[in-house]
Amino acid sequence: MTAVSGWGRFPVVDSEVVRPRSFGAVAEAVVAGSVARGNGRAYGDAAIGAVRTIGMTGFDRIRSFDPATGRIRVEAGVLLSDLIDTFGPRGFLPFVVPGTRFVSVGGAIAADVHGKNHHGEGGFGRYVDSILLRTGAGETIEISREQHSDAFFATVGGMGLTGVILEATMRLRPVVSGWIRERVIAASDLDAAMRALEASNSSTYSVAWIDCVARGRDLGRSLIYLGEHARTDELPEAADRFPVGGNPGLAVPVDLPSMTLNRFGVRAFNEIYYRMGARRAGSEHVVSLYPYFFPLDSIAGWNRIYGRRGFVQHQCVIPEAAARAVLGDILDRISKRGDASFLAVLKKLGHGDGLLSFPLPGYTLALDFPVKGDILNFLDEIDRLVVAAGGRLYLAKDARQSRATFEAGYPALSRFKAIRKSLDPAGNIRSKLSQRLFDEV
Ligand SMILES: Cc1cc2nc3c(=O)[nH]c(=O)nc-3n(C[C@H](O)[C@H](O)[C@H](O)COP(=O)(O)OP(=O)(O)OC[C@H]3O[C@@H](n4cnc5c(N)ncnc54)[C@H](O)[C@@H]3O)c2cc1C
Repeated sequence: MTAVSGWGRFPVVDSEVVRPRSFGAVAEAVVAGSVARGNGRAYGDAAIGAVRTIGMTGFDRIRSFDPATGRIRVEAGVLLSDLIDTFGPRGFLPFVVPGTRFVSVGGAIAADVHGKNHHGEGGFGRYVDSILLRTGAGETIEISREQHSDAFFATVGGMGLTGVILEATMRLRPVVSGWIRERVIAASDLDAAMRALEASNSSTYSVAWIDCVARGRDLGRSLIYLGEHARTDELPEAADRFPVGGNPGLAVPVDLPSMTLNRFGVRAFNEIYYRMGARRAGSEHVVSLYPYFFPLDSIAGWNRIYGRRGFVQHQCVIPEAAARAVLGDILDRISKRGDASFLAVLKKLGHGDGLLSFPLPGYTLALDFPVKGDILNFLDEIDRLVVAAGGRLYLAKDARQSRATFEAGYPALSRFKAIRKSLDPAGNIRSKLSQRLFDEV
């Protein structure tokens, strides 16, 4: 047994970790209580097997690529960073990228990850044509919108609980450069931030950094980052058409004491960050895709800044009609406590495609909290506001929500469970997350 955790380093639990080297070995690796693991970027317990965790990053081959259509067949352990590095210079990028490029294709499908373009272009699963799935019952099936479509829509966003994704065929986006034309908008409060996101619906990419320690009339002040793929005539002088991503420059070498991120430090950081951003507001800049899409990837191991006890991310989505009131209430409670991190993100989402996909039309707010004091009780309090508003929490970030919160947020759950049962009648595929939220006890 090995002590395993997700990116938030909470909880840390025992599971046997195996790394099969062939699809045959994957089949043998599936025992009662197994789940697949990609690159371990889910924050909580989603990628930890109840008994056994099947590491899939060894499956990193690109099977085929058609430059005429951008269609690609890859093994599930291929990272989005590999796709960007390999196909970016040839004029193709993934349609959807989350806030880190170090996620596997299997993990991106299983969480149906969303990017800064979800409001207009949907999630990762929308660009997946078919998936080779090894079910818990021992079958290997190719699933798509046409073939085994129930299994397909349960697997997209299904958090690995329908089986092990072995390969996938998907479409890449044609681009002329690896640069983004960015426009920053400074919003002095939550109303202004939501108005700006609403008004930017036609922007391909949009996301807001929100200052969650600002209070009173500054509550919800934000910097909104809009983005479009830049044309070649817009690139900085002498710039390569496709910039080099490079490896993370800085690294956090040790666990910092969790008091490092105290409220005064965060307040000071946010003040400076907001003012600097506000100074750039209004004009357009062309930036490399790396800082635009993956600002945190430049600091290796940043998850250690929260200290040894780890941290939790709370990411909710609130349906559009209730969003202003509920987000205002949540931010008000958080700013009064003053222990949220400076990594707070507000974004508009559209419809999700999978049965358990997180997105719904509305606003998502994501915040990190170090695990200390009464934080878990406080987050239960926030969950009650989310549930009352018809919202839900993102499973890829979750380590602590209750069954009641989960069940209230995901109305397609019973249908998902029925499909899961048909694919895996003995219930072999089980993660720590599914034990906590899905499985019969
Ligand atoms: C800095 C940072 C920023 C992020 N930003 C975003 C964001 O903007 N949007 C967003 O949607 N998410 C975001 N995430 C979350 C991340 O994109 C997801 O958790 C993603 O699933 C991680 O992929 P992974 O390969 O690391 O998978 P893991 O974390 O290893 O696993 C995640 C889930 O996928 C399943 N899984 C993995 N591989 C397979 C497989 N081969 N077959 C079946 N199931 C599998 C696991 O069982 C688990 O349920 C962010 C995470 C970090 C650390």
